[in-house]
Amino acid sequence: MAATPGVVSLGSLVQSAVADLARAGVETPRLEAELLAAQAMGWTRLQVMTRREHGVSVQQAADLRGLYAARCRRAPLAYLAGRREFYGLGLRVGPGVLTPRPETELLVDLALDEARRRGAVRLADVCTGSGCVAVALAIGLPDARLLATDLSHAAIRCAARNATEHGVADRLGLVRCDLTRALRPGWAEILVANPPYVPSAATAGLQPEVACYEPWVALDGGGSGLTILEALAIGARRVLGAGGLFASEIGSDQGDAALRIVRAVGFGRPAIVRDLAGMDRVVTARA
Ligand code: GLN
Repeated sequence: MAATPGVVSLGSLVQSAVADLARAGVETPRLEAELLAAQAMGWTRLQVMTRREHGVSVQQAADLRGLYAARCRRAPLAYLAGRREFYGLGLRVGPGVLTPRPETELLVDLALDEARRRGAVRLADVCTGSGCVAVALAIGLPDARLLATDLSHAAIRCAARNATEHGVADRLGLVRCDLTRALRPGWAEILVANPPYVPSAATAGLQPEVACYEPWVALDGGGSGLTILEALAIGARRVLGAGGLFASEIGSDQGDAALRIVRAVGFGRPAIVRDLAGMDRVVTARA
């Protein structure tokens, strides 16, 4: 069948994008080329793979080329899609908000276990970002009330949208403040956080997606990476009731330092929990 003038096939667009994305250093070019095509067409990835001869309208081709060009500039896939999956939930994300990382699901597991075991119903999530941890906890704990904080207006807006879309906004309060500042002393039974913990000088080692697009304020943990954890631990000690659980995500080489920090502010039973890759990932302690 002769091609209609001005109409390109989806397959040829995808094929040239695979080469461009690979040249730009994207590690999974075919997967991403197909996912972005699926997004532009409003299709599934499988449809993209099986309908390569489909003629793309001029508008669709322009939209798709725009997505490919942005991804070649290493804009994060999650920002281009506007969504990212976390703990089995589809969440909104966008510029100004750190995209949820799979390793952060460990924080949710730990808090859910603890809350179910002791019937805890008052939980705080500090540095909530997209609200991923708080929303997952609210869904997993139908009787719980949660307060989530973030310094960033963009984060609070994004978290509010996610809370509303997942039907938990009535039980999840969002407060824009520094760390635990707006939380009442003794209020929380469990306090979780994924604070910024990347050492300021470590930018050189970050992927362009992270270094050039993600909010530095959500990553920069000061000189050693532990400046925010120190302030957070002091605040958490104040906000947690007796016996309350503190759990904070940390960097993979920060376990020993994190244990010293939580001990120094008066927490008991400090422990490090490793992630699926066997790396230090969460510090826990008891008020
Ligand atoms: N794990 C994130 C990264 O390396 C850092 C998250 C954080 O600072 N809280 O990109």
